[in-house]
Amino acid sequence: MKVSEEPCQCPDCRRFYKEHDRLIRQFPTLRQQQEINWAALQSFRTLCGKVLEDLQKKLNVNSLSQYEEDCQTGTAEKKEKSITQVITDLENINAHLYSIEALMERIFDVKVPDEVEDKFREVAGELAPDPLNIDRLKLNRLLHQTPDLPDK
Ligand SMILES: [Zn+2]
Repeated sequence: MKVSEEPCQCPDCRRFYKEHDRLIRQFPTLRQQQEINWAALQSFRTLCGKVLEDLQKKLNVNSLSQYEEDCQTGTAEKKEKSITQVITDLENINAHLYSIEALMERIFDVKVPDEVEDKFREVAGELAPDPLNIDRLKLNRLLHQTPDLPDK
C-alpha cells in the first residue's frame, strides 16, 4: 500500500475510527444498528428542539421587556441578530433531522431472517475485532514473531 493511500491518522480521524469500530462491535446486527441510529437521531432532535424553544422564548422576552431600554443604548440590534442567526441555524438543523427521520423510517421497517443477522455478526467481528479479545492478542503476538522482522 502506498503511503498516500493510508487512512489519515490525525486525532479527529483516529477518534472517528475508534468510535466507528465501537459502534460496529457493540451493535453488530441489523436490528441493533436500526435501534441505536434511531435513538441517536431522536436524542439529537430532542436536544436541538429544546434549545431552540429556549432561545425563542429568550428572544421574545428580550423583545418585549427590554425593547425600549435596549433601543436607547443601541446594543439590542447586534445582540438579537446573533440570537436570530443561531435560531435560524437550529431551525435548519431541525428541518434536516426531520427529513432524515422520514428516510430512516423506511430503513427501519426492514427485518431480515436470523441467518442474515448471524452474517451481520460475523462480518462485524471481522470489521471491528475486539482489541482486548484473547484470540486477537494471540494473533498479534504471532504476527510480531514473523521471520521477516529484523530482530528475529
Ligand atoms: Zn484526519
